[in-house]
Amino acid sequence: MSRIILEARDVRYRYPGGVHAIRGISFHVRRGEKVALVGPNGAGKSTLLLMFNGMLRPDAGTLLFDNQPLRYDAASLRELRRRVGFVFQHPDRQIIAPTVYQDVAFGPVNLGFGTDRVRQVVRDALRNVGLAGFERRPPHQLSAGEKKRVAIAGVLAMDPDLLVLDEPTSSLDPAGSEDTMELLEELHQAGKTIIISTHDVELAYPWADRAILLRQGEILQEDIPEVAFGDPDLVRRARLSVPVLLELYQELARRGLPLPEKRPKTALDMIHLIDQAFSRGARTGTCGTIHVCDVDSTGPEALSRWLSSRDGLWIGAMGTRAKQRAAEEQIAVDFTYGVIDKCLLRALGGESSLILTAGGMVQRVEVRVSAFAEEWGTPIPVEEVKGP
Ligand code: ADP
Repeated sequence: MSRIILEARDVRYRYPGGVHAIRGISFHVRRGEKVALVGPNGAGKSTLLLMFNGMLRPDAGTLLFDNQPLRYDAASLRELRRRVGFVFQHPDRQIIAPTVYQDVAFGPVNLGFGTDRVRQVVRDALRNVGLAGFERRPPHQLSAGEKKRVAIAGVLAMDPDLLVLDEPTSSLDPAGSEDTMELLEELHQAGKTIIISTHDVELAYPWADRAILLRQGEILQEDIPEVAFGDPDLVRRARLSVPVLLELYQELARRGLPLPEKRPKTALDMIHLIDQAFSRGARTGTCGTIHVCDVDSTGPEALSRWLSSRDGLWIGAMGTRAKQRAAEEQIAVDFTYGVIDKCLLRALGGESSLILTAGGMVQRVEVRVSAFAEEWGTPIPVEEVKGP
C-alpha cells in the first residue's frame, strides 16, 4: 500500500466570531489516490480544503503533509504550496495576470526559476491542459471551462504532488465538466494525487477511489464510493442522494434478481449486469475491435491514410491532446467522455471503434479492456494503430 501523503488528526476550525466550520476531523489520503469530499453547501468542504496548503490554520489538531506536521512560517508555506496545488472554485479568485502566459508563469517566477525554465514549464502546463496557443490571450475573455484550465495550468507549472480542487465543475456546463474530469483523470494517470470537493454525487461516484461524506463540519462516512453512497438513510442525512446507478442496482436486488457483488459504476457495467441478470450474457456474435492510436507518435498523414481505409468506425478522443488533434485534423469524433466504456459497449454489439489518445493513456485502454474482458469472459480485440 502506498505512502500517506496527507493526514488530518482531529482538526477543528472556527471562523472568527462565527461558526464551528470543522468539528474534529481525522482522515488520511495515500499517494496516487483520488478522493472526493462530498457534502451539501455549508458542510465545511472549502474550509477543510483551505487547510491542506496552509491557507487556513486549524484552531486545534494537526495536519501532516508527507508525514511532517505543517509549519506556518513563510518559507515552510512557500514550499508546501509548491507541493500542494490549490485550484479555487471561482477561477477569478486565482487568475490575476493580464495574459494567460503571465498568469501561468506567476508561480514559477516566484520560485525563482530562470527565464528559459519558466518558458518551458508554462509551455508544458498549457499543453497538458489543452491550451497551447492561448499564451497571449487575456484570461477574462475566456470561457468558464478555459479559465478553469488556466487555473489548473498555473498550479501544474509548480509540478505539485497533490492537487486540491474546490468544486472543480461548479460553474461549468456539462461538456466543460466532462472535459475537466477527463483532465483530472489524465493528471491522475500522470501520477498526481487528487482531492476534490463536490456536492455532485453523480460526479464523485464513478470518479473517486474513496468518498468522504461531510456534514456540519464532521465526517459522516468514509469508504469506497459504492459503500459510502450505498446507505440511503445516511446519504439523506447528509442532504445528498444515492447515485442513480447504485439506486437501480439496489432496486434490481430488491426484486430478487441474481446480481454480481460488484456494484455498477458506469452505464457499461449496468448494461452488462442487466444482460447477465436476464441470462442474455452468453454472446453469440463476434465482438468489434477497439483500435487505439497514440496521436503523439502517429502523424496526420498516417492517421488520415488509416482512417480513409475504414468506414463506419466509432471514434472517441480521450484526453486533451487527442481532442486537440481531432479538432485540428477535422476528424468527426463521436465520444469525448467515458470513451473506453462507450467503445466497449460498441464492441459488444459487434461494432469497431478507434480511440485517439496519447502517452500513458494508450496502456490504460489496453488494461481497462483486458480487465473487462476477463471479468465478463468476453475477449475483445485491441489493436494499436501505428504510423510515422
Ligand atoms: P462548503 O464548502 O461545504 O459549502 P464552507 O467550508 O464554505 O462549506 O462553510 C462551512 C461553514 O463555515 C458554513 O456554515 C459557512 O457559513 C461558514 N463560513 C465559511 N466561510 C466563512 C467565513 N469567511 N466567515 C465566517 N463563516 C464562514
